[in-house]
Amino acid sequence: MLTGKVALITGSTSGIGLGIAKKLSSQGAHIILNGMGEKTAIQALQASLQKDCNNSVLFHPADLTDPNQIEELIHFSANAHGRLDILVNNAGIQHVAPVCDFPIEKWQKIIDLNLSAAFYTARLAIPFMREKKWGRIINMASAHALVASPFKSAYVASKHALAGLSKVIALEVAEENITCNAICPGYVHTPLVDQQIDDTAKARGISRESVIKDVMLGPQATKKFVTIEEIASFASFLCSDAADSITGALLPIDGAWTSH
Ligand code: NAD
Repeated sequence: MLTGKVALITGSTSGIGLGIAKKLSSQGAHIILNGMGEKTAIQALQASLQKDCNNSVLFHPADLTDPNQIEELIHFSANAHGRLDILVNNAGIQHVAPVCDFPIEKWQKIIDLNLSAAFYTARLAIPFMREKKWGRIINMASAHALVASPFKSAYVASKHALAGLSKVIALEVAEENITCNAICPGYVHTPLVDQQIDDTAKARGISRESVIKDVMLGPQATKKFVTIEEIASFASFLCSDAADSITGALLPIDGAWTSH
């Protein structure tokens, strides 16, 4: 159980991040939500997470491509209950296009959000974990941190680099009861993936059905999407004391995609 602990989950207004927020909240952690979205929809999310729980569910709207807003987010999170125990760097975006046509501003935004934001949050969050002599950092990488696919230059580069950053952080805090790992999911049917279907169909000149069957589920040996619940349960295990020695690891949940 995570009663009394404070967990910041970035990009938790949707998809995998929201699933992790729900899971950690159900285990008693105070939750800091972050991400984009309509104010009323986010208020409804807060209310639904808070239902039946004694823990608090707060929201901060920081745009994580801006280091100043990241600083505000970390201080907001740590000040809420005087501690910050769990950091899940989950916010991420994708863009699908051939490398020669890849828009430069998309490249920069993907690197800023998928990679640099995790550096900015971790460097500010670790001192609060040190104070309590306990911490968990979970970076949401991807199977694309381990293998590549065409037309995803910025995403694959950002996730490979995030894997490297996770290992460095793990080594630096290893003796302080703080762990840092990268979860590497295969395809999960979230809004991020839904948006990619049309772009991938265009980039490869194939149908939507073929994108799902051949491109997305083709390499996933189980031939089914990974679920949000599977990732959330694994993230919660990484937050348990049973996972004290799991650190610096790149952990695939990908239906044997990267076993090929
Ligand atoms: P999603 O689009 O459902 O959620 C992304 C979240 O990030 C949302 O809450 C969004 O508001 C937030 N976000 C976007 N831009 C932001 C910004 N500038 N600042 C703050 N928050 C911002 O996507 P998802 O599929 O749940 O992806 C979550 C993470 O999991 C990403 O890092 C993604 O790369 C990774 N991942 C997803 C899959 C998949 O198949 N869905 C597979 C592997 C890894």
